[in-house]
Amino acid sequence: GGEPLRQVRKHLQIVFQDPFSALDPRRRAGDQIREPLELLDIGTRSERDERVRCLLAEVGLPPEAAELFPHQFSGGQRQRLCIARALAPEPELIVCDEAVSALDVAIQAQILNLLKKLQRERGLTYIFISHDLGVIQQFCDEIAVMYLGKIAEQAPASTLFTAPRHPYTWSLVSAAVPPGSLRDELKARYLVKGEPPSPVDPPPGCRFAERCPFAVDRCRREQPHLDGTGPEHFVACHRKEELGIPDLTPEAA
Ligand code: SF4
Repeated sequence: GGEPLRQVRKHLQIVFQDPFSALDPRRRAGDQIREPLELLDIGTRSERDERVRCLLAEVGLPPEAAELFPHQFSGGQRQRLCIARALAPEPELIVCDEAVSALDVAIQAQILNLLKKLQRERGLTYIFISHDLGVIQQFCDEIAVMYLGKIAEQAPASTLFTAPRHPYTWSLVSAAVPPGSLRDELKARYLVKGEPPSPVDPPPGCRFAERCPFAVDRCRREQPHLDGTGPEHFVACHRKEELGIPDLTPEAA
């Protein structure tokens, strides 16, 4: 607690997957947006009221929304409310933790558009955590692929999808192409099955070794480092040079 944490809160805010549990069911929407301003001692009372009105408008909610309780909103509107609250202290960075995963596709698109608009207008940076490769591809500029808590590969979005270098990324990209569009033998080669081992007791070498179709003895003994393989492109794999880059582009119909 204390001052350092307060300072971090001002610059960094988090939007969670489940807006319902992130909001207090007994407090009105306006009060919940105002809360971070009170905690951080920002503005006078009337300035805070004005800020709440502006924030509601910015996220596409009417001024009357301030008087409503969370259960009176739809799922998408509740996420808008959480975004308004996150914006209240004017952070530079917002962590979106699976922030659109619980929403259906049409509402997801609306929330993603809202996040993009806010980014343009406010110069925000997002750390966008998601399991949905399609959403990541449309939304992110720079991607870090994580496996069991470690970065397997990191690159600008365009590079990651056209020239992935890590076997785990190959598996994700193969899994994401529409069925029937990738040559079957290629897909069988790169798609890995099964579940990751427990993150509590990770394997000693490469964390992906148990499931990697390309694992050799060294992989099970030695942890690979995240090394640069090109401009802004980093890969943690012992065999990255010899394995090269597979052609994962979907086959034309
Ligand atoms: S280090 Fe070995 S096990 Fe890990 S991804 Fe590379 S080839 Fe696969």
